This record gives sequence, C-alpha cells and structure tokens, in this order.
Amino acid sequence: MRYYSTRDRTRAVNFKTAALSGLAPDGGLFVPEELPRLSATVLSSLRSMDFVDIAYELVKPFTSPELSPSVLADIIHDAYPFSAPLVDVGERRVLELFHGPTAAFKDFGARFMARVFSYLRRGDSLPLRVLVATSGDTGGAVADGFFGVPGISVTVLYPKGRVSPLQERQIAGLGENIEALAVEGSFDDCQRLVKAAFVDPELKAKLDLSSANSINICRLIPQAIYYMAAAGKALNESAKKEAPIFCVPSGNFGNLTAGLYAMKMGAPIKGFIAATNINKTIPDYLKSGQYAPRDSVATISNAMDVGAPSNFERMTAFWNYEELRELLIGAFVDDSETKACISAVHETTGYVLDPHGAVGWKAMDKLEEAGITLGARPINLATAHPAKFAETVEPLVGPIAPPETLRAAMTRTVHSEVIAADPAALRSILIG
Ligand SMILES: *Cc1c(COP(=O)(O)O)cnc(C)c1O
Repeated sequence: MRYYSTRDRTRAVNFKTAALSGLAPDGGLFVPEELPRLSATVLSSLRSMDFVDIAYELVKPFTSPELSPSVLADIIHDAYPFSAPLVDVGERRVLELFHGPTAAFKDFGARFMARVFSYLRRGDSLPLRVLVATSGDTGGAVADGFFGVPGISVTVLYPKGRVSPLQERQIAGLGENIEALAVEGSFDDCQRLVKAAFVDPELKAKLDLSSANSINICRLIPQAIYYMAAAGKALNESAKKEAPIFCVPSGNFGNLTAGLYAMKMGAPIKGFIAATNINKTIPDYLKSGQYAPRDSVATISNAMDVGAPSNFERMTAFWNYEELRELLIGAFVDDSETKACISAVHETTGYVLDPHGAVGWKAMDKLEEAGITLGARPINLATAHPAKFAETVEPLVGPIAPPETLRAAMTRTVHSEVIAADPAALRSILIG
C-alpha cells in the first residue's frame, strides 16, 4: 500500500516511511491510497472468525509488501491476546474496548505500532528513540506497548502533577526501555519540547528519533478491526439482518475515522454518531458546514478534550461534507449530563460506564429524544474501563473493582526525572 499526505497527493510513500515518520514532511497526515474492500468470503464469515483472523485480513493490504504474511500474523497474535467483547446493556449494546493492559482502547493502536516499529527497524545499528508527549492516557498505552520491545527506547514527557496517580504509575512505573520525564509545565509545554527536539540539528545528527503520537497511521489502522468484527456479529444476530449504527465518543477523531475505514472496507455499518463533550467542533461542523477549530475546554471526559481534532483532515480526505452528513450524526453532552447518565444507566441496568462511554450513551438518548431512530440495538463504544476514572465514577455508583491489569499498575513505583520546560533540559537528557 502507498500513502500520501492529506496536504499533497502528488508524493506517495510506502508503509515503512509513513509509519516511522508519523507526520508527513508538509505537516499533513498520511492516508492510504485506497481502502480496499475485503473479499466476499471474509465478509460473509465475520461472525465465525476469531478476532485475530479478522485483524489479519483487515490489516494485510495496508502493510504489504513490507510485512510478509507470516510476519504480520506473528505481530497480530503478539499484539492482541485480548479482544473487544460486544455485551448487551438494556436495549443497546456496548463494545468494550478496555480489555488491554492499560484499560483504554488506545492499547489496540499502541501495541500494534510498537511491534511494527521493532520489525521495520530490525538490523539498524542505532536504537530508535521514540518521543511522546502526553496529557495522561496516551503515555501509558505507548509505554506499555513498547515495554520490552527490542531496539527501541521510549521517552514519555508528561506535565508534572497534572496526571492522575494511576496514569503516572502507568507511564513511569515500568522502567527498562521506558524513560519518564515529569515536565515542570503543562501538556502544551511537553508537546513544545518534543517538537523542538525534532528540529534540533544536534539531536538529529546523533539520534534516530521517532514519534508515537496519535496521528501515526500505524495506530489508526488497527482500530478498524473491532468495528469489522462487531458489525459482522451484530448483523448476523439481528432478526431483520439490519446493519447497526455505532456511537463513538470522540476527541481527536482517530477512532471514528477508523470506523469509517472499516465501513468503506465492507463492514456492515449503517452509520455513526459523532459524540463529543462540550468540545463540539465536529457536531457544530456537521450542523453548519463550517469547520471552526477552537481552544479546548477541560471536562470529566478529559481524553476527549480536543478543540481542533487532527483527524478531521483524514475524514475529509475521503469524504466531502455532504457525504459526511449522510454517514454521521453529531451530538454533544456536558459534564452534568455525563454524570447523570452514569448514575441512570447503573440504576436501570447495573452496567457501569466510564465518563467517555457515558458521553456516547447520553448522546444516543438525546438523539432519540429528538425523534431520531437509531435502529435495532445501536452499539456504543466503551473506550475506557470505569476504574480508570474512579474519582468521578465511584461517588456516583459506589466502589468499582479494577481489572487485574490496573491493580498490577497501582503497585508500581514511580521513577521519573523532573525537568524544566526548556528544550535544553530535554536535550541534555537525550544526549547526556
Ligand atoms: C483517546 C480517547 C478517546 C478519544 O478518541 P479519539 O480517537 O481521539 O477520538 C475517547 N475515550 C478515551 C478513554 C480515550 O483514551
């Protein structure tokens, strides 16, 4: 597969270049040249196929020829010892994306990316140094994904004192090839330091640097797998053989873009709900046709606090405004509605949503109240386990048992180095 930049269709690169460089040289995002439809045989057997087999079929066209069939199969088996169960909750269904090691859906992208990087860099003498700035969730998933991966070391920059104690343990509790830097500043400062490192000539000469931020195409593609698997299963179980609608709690819109990719590749999907918190740039765009990025506002669904979603460029690379309006319904939910929804769903069904999943659930409520029919058993994506956001969820529903992976993370000791929000401080850490 070849990839081109969202800002320049004339210069295509191969999978290896797109993956290892992350952002295109012109500042655009890499998109695949095409989204090939899966074979009729695969599409008609989705319901009986294992998650890893669907993963293999879906990812194969994107990584060929650099990853041979056997290399890709090994990477997929190693990346996904967990899958994405579809569970019934009342009249709806929830696609649980939190069964990976950091209990959020970002594990699907990060674990695949780590193994792909390691393979693509085999035989290179310089170890690859991956830099990532995080406001909380991404750092943990990337650290965990790359932990113990040969030939790669990771430096995670996070704002000191501004991530939760659990998130800090996920980022800074692993050690070995994962280095954690607590920056005396904000998330924006962390991002500024990473960007400065990439244009620093001395660092460029001495190190092989790469980034693992969320716009890497390697993180996006594997997110299409769980839509393909869940849609195939839901269609088969629907009495009227009706394709389901998916509700996607969104921030940077990588997850929803992956859903659109799955649909284009043949997943039986009726459409999507683009659910946001009050950072409602995309719902506003769907209503007005005007794309107006803005500063983000802090909410309790903080992994979705994005005012200028980078994947908007990817969505409009394949679909124009009229097409997007056909495929997506926008809705937004504020913090008090989110909390009320967590309580109400728990009371009526016993199911506990995290604040991000609750934004999706409440968005569906609001659309139904406005008279929009969502069809049989709409599917809401649960992007994180509620125990990850215990400080918000427990006061509403009582104590929640954390999954085994989070319990293990909680016992880790934090080893991080505090640095000033100054590019010189990062440079001296990186080259001593
Ligand atoms: C990152 C994240 C989101 C938002 O996903 P996007 O792909 O950025 O839209 C939603 N929920 C959780 C828990 C996340 O970590």
